[in-house]
Amino acid sequence: MVLFYTHLLMGVTAFLLIKDSFLGGNTLILFLIILLGSILPDIDERRSKINTWTGVLGYVVALFSRHRGFFHSLLFFISSSLVMGYYWNSYYAGGLFLGYSLHLLGDGFTRQGVQIFYPFSDFKISGPIKVGGIVEVLLVLLLIVTVAGILFFLI
Ligand SMILES: [Zn+2]
Repeated sequence: MVLFYTHLLMGVTAFLLIKDSFLGGNTLILFLIILLGSILPDIDERRSKINTWTGVLGYVVALFSRHRGFFHSLLFFISSSLVMGYYWNSYYAGGLFLGYSLHLLGDGFTRQGVQIFYPFSDFKISGPIKVGGIVEVLLVLLLIVTVAGILFFLI
């Protein structure tokens, strides 16, 4: 459950850091897309918030995929970002890809890790952090302080 907030806060932090360099559209839409990208991969986990929020779609996704499988792969990240860029807006597609990348980064630091080249390889990126453990809680606090600090200097 904590990991949800870690992913969201990483997305908020990234948005605050890049928003002034964003040149191609509505900033609020970019913000929402980065947040979407930062939580969407967990649609493959039945107990995740994004899975619950998406109802039948989330149920079907979780039924036919395993957690941290296809929806946590570069194949999914790149193909969905390319589709968004082709059919809608390449700047927003970049935001989606940024959110996805942050999600991969966050999951890549956990003990469970992620198979970024799934389904082509079993290669896994993993780290020492236990999901919901003290290190992750400290990371969430650090991200909250970072976001507050950035907002303080913006105002
Ligand atoms: Zn994940």
